[in-house]
Amino acid sequence: MRSIPFGQKLLTKHIMQNISNYDFSGKKAIVRVDFNVPLNDKFEITDDTRIRAAIPTLKKVLEKGGALIIMSHLGRPKGVEAKYSLKHIIGAVEAKLGAKVQFADDCMKADAQAAALKPGDVLLLENLRFYAEEEGKPRGLAADASDEEKKAAKAAVKASQKEFVKKLASYADCYINDAFGTAHRAHASTALIAEYFPNDKMFGYVMEGEIKAINTVLESPQRPLTAIIGGSKVSSKIGIISHLLDLVDNLVIGGGMVYTFKKALGGKVGKSLCEDDQQDVALNVLSEAKKKGVKVYLSDTVVAADDFSNDANTIICPSNNIPDDYEGVDAAPEAVAKFREVILASKTILWNGPVGVFEMPNFAKGTNAIAQTLKEATDKGAFTLVGGGDSVAAVTQMGYADKVSYVSTGGGAMLEYLEGKVLPGIAAIQG
Ligand code: AMP
Repeated sequence: MRSIPFGQKLLTKHIMQNISNYDFSGKKAIVRVDFNVPLNDKFEITDDTRIRAAIPTLKKVLEKGGALIIMSHLGRPKGVEAKYSLKHIIGAVEAKLGAKVQFADDCMKADAQAAALKPGDVLLLENLRFYAEEEGKPRGLAADASDEEKKAAKAAVKASQKEFVKKLASYADCYINDAFGTAHRAHASTALIAEYFPNDKMFGYVMEGEIKAINTVLESPQRPLTAIIGGSKVSSKIGIISHLLDLVDNLVIGGGMVYTFKKALGGKVGKSLCEDDQQDVALNVLSEAKKKGVKVYLSDTVVAADDFSNDANTIICPSNNIPDDYEGVDAAPEAVAKFREVILASKTILWNGPVGVFEMPNFAKGTNAIAQTLKEATDKGAFTLVGGGDSVAAVTQMGYADKVSYVSTGGGAMLEYLEGKVLPGIAAIQG
């Protein structure tokens, strides 16, 4: 079995601190959180999960006598854009933290405010992405810019990024990264800043929780270990599937991906989603699985619809014999029953991606059944990890978000971690 890179970097010359033991008294902590919350057109927060998630870390610093400098991005601004101001969320942070929050209108001009912070004080910096330097990507390049112009613009932003990082670091005595959602990005605030705090950098509780949960699956799982991978395309999930083939005992494959596998095996898939150019990849997955002793379960029977709409006419048919004018839209009860048997016989289960077009209520039954089965497996003592926007939405809709072992908050970051990639935000703290 191939082990993943996490953990290999623990033997380093720098000290990685632990938030639970660190002495914050009299110190200023700059904390990268993920306050990228959805706002409606009145700038009201429609889902405050990310703010709530960051509170234990923020409270820890204050309780231990420290002061907070909080930094985050919000949305994808192309420069300073009022609608993406973090001002909109000050009230929510104050209410949840139980402390007054000062605001720095410009994250590069917060010297005086940061210097004046006393223990217990909280300063929130304006959206980091108002500056191109946060992501280190040039902005405003003409559509017809030459390669040379692109290269020069990139070099310019990289050069000014150094000053940006240095300025942020100058505000504080220690650095905490608690933004798992951006841990897969080597941005100024998520990775580069860590080098200014070689002995005073640490993960916050969100990051600690995510890493621990994922490593429970990838590094030290109780067996059997089953991964359920759904979603639309083989091409977007092949990285994860390939990595998991070295780790899992069972691989359940559902969703739109199934039809590429079935067609590659000689089946008839009608109008189903199918990536013809991924058929070899699919066949390779099956032969690698065989070599590695991984059992693969594809939805053998499916609900097929005569239109891609919730009210379409449906039939249940084998996934390798779908009529020409029908398309597979959900795992059928027989397939779900098989998946259930595999899941309930497992001690560790990872779920990413829906097994049907779950946005349409009539085709959400298979996905909801997976959520239900994961809850039951958790009740029986299995460790269950759910990650990826759609699967998280499914367990949440079913009211099971706190009835599985762990629900990951980081979509892209979680996927890259599952692919076995080193995440810059994690490596920067460990290195
Ligand atoms: P992903 O982002 O790759 O995890 O894919 C999630 C999407 O896959 C959801 O929007 C689902 O509606 C879609 N999906 C799942 N099953 C199917 C299917 N049989 N046909 C088309 N789309 C599907």
